[in-house]
Amino acid sequence: MNDATQCVLTPDVKTEGFDSLSIPTYRGSTIVFADAEGYETRGARGHTGFTYGLYGTPTHRALEQKLTALEQGAWTFLLPSGQAANVFAVLPFLSAGDHILIADTAYPPMRDFANQDLKGFGVAVDFYDPTSIDDLRRRLTPRTKIVWCESPGSTTMEVQDLPQIAEIAHRAGALVGCDNTWATPLNFKPLAHGADFVTEALTKYVSGHSDLLMGSITVRDEAHITPIRSVLGRYGIGVSPDDVTLVLRGIETLGVRMAHSAQVTAALLPQLAASPLVRQILYPSLPDSPGYVLWKRDFLGVSGVFSLVFVPEAVPHIARALDSLRIFAIGASWGGTRSLIAPMPVKRHRTAQPWTGDDLILRVSIGLEAIGDLQADLERFLNVLTAEIGVAVRVTA
Ligand SMILES: *Cc1c(COP(=O)(O)O)cnc(C)c1O
Repeated sequence: MNDATQCVLTPDVKTEGFDSLSIPTYRGSTIVFADAEGYETRGARGHTGFTYGLYGTPTHRALEQKLTALEQGAWTFLLPSGQAANVFAVLPFLSAGDHILIADTAYPPMRDFANQDLKGFGVAVDFYDPTSIDDLRRRLTPRTKIVWCESPGSTTMEVQDLPQIAEIAHRAGALVGCDNTWATPLNFKPLAHGADFVTEALTKYVSGHSDLLMGSITVRDEAHITPIRSVLGRYGIGVSPDDVTLVLRGIETLGVRMAHSAQVTAALLPQLAASPLVRQILYPSLPDSPGYVLWKRDFLGVSGVFSLVFVPEAVPHIARALDSLRIFAIGASWGGTRSLIAPMPVKRHRTAQPWTGDDLILRVSIGLEAIGDLQADLERFLNVLTAEIGVAVRVTA
């Protein structure tokens, strides 16, 4: 054999006895077959088998299986981002003339996708008040194919009554999807509460280190595997095994990271609640947070993401106060090791359930820094906010 050929051929390396705890990063576009018949009949391998890199490698299967078990579903698909997961959870089930109902508190890019693209495809789009079963009933039509939930909702944190929503939607012939990014499959199981699909932005807590983007769709019913798989194939949607390896590493510590964030958040909240500048803390485990009763009934815990609503006189000074932070980084997203804080405008993203408070809310994600440093940083933030309000009052006087 020529050396050039030798360079190309893969030797038959034995893996017997190499019993590692980690899953290797299997890379591959081409999958080879033992004979012509194997190639000819590759379609019979189904969604669990290997036929082409787009449909995954054993590395992908490892993460898919972990998520399928955690979500108590039938199968999991991995996508390049959480937003892609939301899009491809609904796209296979909608065609021109159909109708989709989306929770008014859904992740804003999901609203934009519906308003821009789904409408362009001839799908009717409507938004419903995530806290009102009556509003959902009123807006359901005989052509509603999907009811989209996100619980708790982005930024304003309303918990939804998923079992009741699912019952009503199913009776009307619609499927139910739920974005579970805040809770992660550790703290809420949407499929066990009636949803047909659950999506996760693995970008956040599951990967846990703010260094990649990925999303997942887990289906409850085997019948929904093929429609999603074939649309992903036609659109050419898959993820890199290198990124999957990073998520596999991150998910191993998901349990301790979530528990830690929840514990640190609980320790920080009294300081914020005691400030006369903070009007409300939106966090499902607080009794005055919207949907607390539903959270208590259906959820298994909390994450370290919450939102702060300020008294009106504080709002114009928030930007200045944010600039005083030294530990919290200013940035969107959440669920990494670093604590984050981000001003979130709300009004423009609400149509079914208009937001009556001030437009600006601060969303906070608690990371893994020492609690004393976080407390000192929040103290600094509140002191600057108080001082700025004082200056403004004196100037007006
Ligand atoms: C971040 C986020 C997404 C999107 O995830 P990406 O991976 O950033 O696309 C979807 N839903 C919710 C609730 C999110 O917070």
